[in-house]
Amino acid sequence: MYIGIDIGGTNIKGVLTDKDGKILSSGDTPTPDSSKEIDKSIISLIDSLASKAETDKNRIDAVGIGAAGSINRRKGMIVTSPNILCWKNYPLAANIEKISGIKTFIENDATVACAGYWWEKEASKFRTFIMITLGTGVGGGAVIDGKLFTGQNGSSLEIGHMTIEVNGKECSCGNRGCLEQYASATALVNYTKTNLKKFKNSSLHTRMKIEELTAKIIYEEAVKKDELALKSFEYISLHLGAGIVNLINIFNPEAVILGGGLSKSHKLIIPLIKKIIAERALKGMKEGVKIIAVKDQAIIPSLGAAKIAMDRLKHIM
Ligand SMILES: [Zn+2]
Repeated sequence: MYIGIDIGGTNIKGVLTDKDGKILSSGDTPTPDSSKEIDKSIISLIDSLASKAETDKNRIDAVGIGAAGSINRRKGMIVTSPNILCWKNYPLAANIEKISGIKTFIENDATVACAGYWWEKEASKFRTFIMITLGTGVGGGAVIDGKLFTGQNGSSLEIGHMTIEVNGKECSCGNRGCLEQYASATALVNYTKTNLKKFKNSSLHTRMKIEELTAKIIYEEAVKKDELALKSFEYISLHLGAGIVNLINIFNPEAVILGGGLSKSHKLIIPLIKKIIAERALKGMKEGVKIIAVKDQAIIPSLGAAKIAMDRLKHIM
């Protein structure tokens, strides 16, 4: 049996699965502020997943952990994380392994999301697909020719840092014009804020009197056909579409899968992306590419972390 853990800025989610990806128990717990407390929460979550499934902890073969940020998978270390600022060269895998006595592996959050989606029946029919996670930033993963592609050191598919505007906005990575500056939840909020003055009748003015502007609010108003909110979604979809055109032209995938919080607005985004693909991607590449939003957003990354734990354990044994 395998445990998969998905650490987000707000919650830590976990599943216990068998070798076929059947979920035997699941649970979550809030993400504490300090690294030591996060270790403790992970350990209690492992205990509670085992007891919920009425199984002995000794029967768990491995633990996989997915987290956002720069990861040294060989050392089991989180180099830095945009969600959890207390982690700086933090030996998370070694700590969990030492306390729990179970072999532990870590992986980037977008890669675990990709692995989780792939393990689900719906995705197993694709041999080549790209996963894009749309949240505060933009992440990615890929399955190529039936194999999870991880690059030289596990840092592949940083789709969010693909240059789409050569002289564009500065990015925290040091580059300019990165996709995530134009096509993330952050970009959606920034674009809306910048254009508020031009749209004096926007319902967003009223919403902002009582609450802070978020991607969720912009989505709610876009559904009600607010002109600015719709324009903001058009803006991010145009850029995301351009990024996806690059990926289609390079990988010739069967599908592009959208995950992450912002993919909940897929009904607005996907038709616009499809239009950009039809207009811009190469003939012979774009035909038949499916653009799909992940359905079971909550469970996919932890399921993928369990799958990665299983695969990595096989490689070291
Ligand atoms: Zn960047």
